[in-house]
Amino acid sequence: MGILRNILEVFKTLRYRGPSKMYCPRCGSPRIHLSSSLDYWLTPKSYVCDECGYRGPIIMELEEDEGKTQNVED
Ligand SMILES: [Zn+2]
Repeated sequence: MGILRNILEVFKTLRYRGPSKMYCPRCGSPRIHLSSSLDYWLTPKSYVCDECGYRGPIIMELEEDEGKTQNVED
């Protein structure tokens, strides 16, 4: 019983932390959004980056108050 309660507490805490910002894992741009793909039932989540054209299920999520994005340049 105690464990279940702890899990609920964690969820609550996560919610209160507010929305996190999404960044492209390739170029670090915040201009990334969920793709409105027609085959969404095959690929549940796909993100598209406006900046570099990245497309895939993986994004970087950072909380706003966590500070700066790492500047990864190639
Ligand atoms: Zn990108």
